[in-house]
Order: sequence, then C-alpha cells, then structure tokens
Amino acid sequence: MSQTLPSPTDLAHELKSLALELGFDRAGVAGVEPVEHGGAFLRWLERGDHAGMGYLEQRVEERLEPARVLEGARSVLCVALQYHPLEGAEEPTGDLWPRVARYARGRDYHNKMGKLLRKLARRVREAYPHCDTRPYVDTGPVLERALAARAGLGTTAKNTCLLSREGSWFLLGELFLTLPLEAGEPLTDLCGRCTRCLEACPTDALREPYRLDSNRCISYWTIEHRGAVPAEIRPQLEDWVFGCDICQQVCPWNLRPSPAADHPDLHLAEERRDLDLVQLLALGPEEYRRRFNGSAMQRARLEGLKRNAATVMGNRPEPRYRPALEKALTAESDTAVRRHAAWALGRMGAEPSRVVLERALAEEEEPAVAEEIRHALGPEPDRKKNQHARR
Ligand code: SF4
Ligand code: SF4
Repeated sequence: MSQTLPSPTDLAHELKSLALELGFDRAGVAGVEPVEHGGAFLRWLERGDHAGMGYLEQRVEERLEPARVLEGARSVLCVALQYHPLEGAEEPTGDLWPRVARYARGRDYHNKMGKLLRKLARRVREAYPHCDTRPYVDTGPVLERALAARAGLGTTAKNTCLLSREGSWFLLGELFLTLPLEAGEPLTDLCGRCTRCLEACPTDALREPYRLDSNRCISYWTIEHRGAVPAEIRPQLEDWVFGCDICQQVCPWNLRPSPAADHPDLHLAEERRDLDLVQLLALGPEEYRRRFNGSAMQRARLEGLKRNAATVMGNRPEPRYRPALEKALTAESDTAVRRHAAWALGRMGAEPSRVVLERALAEEEEPAVAEEIRHALGPEPDRKKNQHARR
C-alpha cells in the first residue's frame, strides 16, 4: 500500500526542522530544474578559469541538470554548517595558523557534513520508506552554491561565495530526494554597489563581479596545484599556507555580529595547535599522519604544505627560517619543495647560505632545482667575484 504523503509545504517544513534538529545551522529546499546560470558556468570552463581543476569539466550535464543526479529526484534539501562564529572568535597565534583558511583549521568538514547527511538520509527513509536519497558534500557533480541560492540559504556574491545576512562563513551540503518538497524563495542581491572584495583581492583573481579566475587565486595555487608554483606567482601568494580568506574577511556582511553556532570539531585541532612554519617545512610522513589525520589540509598533501611553507618564508623572510630552508634544500626528496627552498633563500639574500647553495648545486641532479639554485646565487660573474672575495 502506498504511503500518503504530507503536502509539499508540510514535507519541506518537516525535513528542514529535522535537519536543524540533527545539528545543521541552516536548511532550505531547491527544485531540480536546470540551474539558472548554466551558461555562465560553461563560459567559465571555456575561458579556462578553472585552471588545473580538470575534474570540473567532467559530468557537466549532471551539474547543469540536478534531476540527473538521482533517478526520480524531485527536490534537494540544502544544508549549511557555520564554521567561523563571529562572536568570541579568536585568531590563533603563532606564525602558521592565521595563514590557513578558517574552514580548514579543524577536523575535515567533509567528514562531519557527510556523517550528518547520512544520518539525515536515514531518518528521512525511516519516515518515508519509498524515498530514495543521495547525499553530496563538495565532491559530487553538483553546483552547490547555485542550489543553495535557489533554496534561499544565501545569494551568490561578487566574490562568488554564497552570502547571507549572517555572512559567508558557511559550508554546504546537499541531500537529493525523490520526495516532492516545496522549494524555498531565493534571496535578493546583498552586494549592491559594494566592491570591497574585488579591491581587496591581492592577485586580481576576481576579474569582474561574480567571476573568479582560479589561475590567479591563492586558494587554487596553495591547495589544488601540484608541483612547483611558477616563480612569477609565488610572491602573490603572500603569507598564505593553505587557502585564502581575504575576500571574505573584508565583506561587510562578515563584520556584523551573527548568531554564533559553535562546532568545536571545526576549531583548530589540538594535535596541530603548536605547529609553526619551521616545523611544517621539516615534517616527515609519520608526523604528518599524526598531525593531519582527518584534516581538510590533506588536500594539499604533505609536499604541497611544505612547498607552501617555503613560499611563505621567501615572502616574509626572517633569519630563523634560514636553517630550515637550507635543510630542505639539501635533504628534501620532493623536487618542488627543493625548488621553493632555493627560491626562498635567494629572496632572503643568498650570501649567508652561499656555501650550502653551492654544495647543493654541485650535487643536484634535477635540472629544474639546479636552475632555481643558480638563480638564487645570482648572475655568474657575481658568483665568481664572491668566490674570489672569499679566498
Ligand atoms: Fe582573491 Fe584570495 Fe579571494 Fe582568491 S580567495 S579571490 S586570491 S581574495
Ligand atoms: Fe558583496 Fe561587498 Fe561582500 Fe564583495 S565585499 S561579497 S561585493 S558585499
């Protein structure tokens, strides 16, 4: 016997309440019709604004037509977790953590969000056994901000984040359902004539409102890119080790007090709290596993984090960084880390490290690293002159 369903309005109310009861901070419902700005997404891909993130070119039809994601899908329950309560939020001290995007400092939100979504799916199926469900957190073929905007959780802002009156420090997840739920009302624009994020972006990655060029974005280079970062990009990464929060930090909606949802597991984790830049550059695989198990920062991998630490040392030179960089140049197995260490020593002034650099150059087998060392040492005549001066 088929189950009599409540009205779409009542169903939406019931499932949104259930999501909030389970621990999500916000919940809304989106329909599964094709997304409104599909053309803009295709143009973004065509221009190559997604940089090296080739996976975004896959399963485009599903991204543009959410109904394809789950057979019989009628609605998407969009949920959000706030990861940075504004009231009482303190910036961590030390030279590493203020340079890590806030969403990545605690436990990996994919785990928390995934667990909560699976629990939500279970509860929905218990109440409505004929309902099919499919949860997504970040990784699926889903344009999550477009769906969350449709559900009324926020509006797409000029910095391309989802922005609500409570700001943009939110993580998003989706539960696709074969139940017919009444969809929410999209919010109207919250940016108005403001352009603070465009002006504040240090790399001009926000080329125009609502358009992010990942080829220029610090988040892309520090998280997604593998191998050495092109030399002309490195100074633009400033002091960011993982991600970048600037275009959110300057947003007036993020400067207002907001309801402080607190998720302690998204706070800076105890096992990483005392880590600094020097320790990060020296980290071995075992210590990395101990410190970063269950952290969203694993996305950059150990060698990516070490590479980024060396970049920051080159951009914000301090004498105490020199021994760590010299060690990385001579003992590190990853080519990109050795390249960045040589570059950073050059930026600090090669002279105090000249002996180490020359020895490393004599022993280096990787042409790209040797080139970085030669560049750090300076033009050939200067090198000869300095050698004579030391004799
Ligand atoms: Fe610019 Fe940083 Fe925002 Fe990327 S994350 S657009 S680099 S401010
Ligand atoms: Fe919109 Fe201004 Fe915030 Fe940028 S800084 S997202 S333009 S309100």
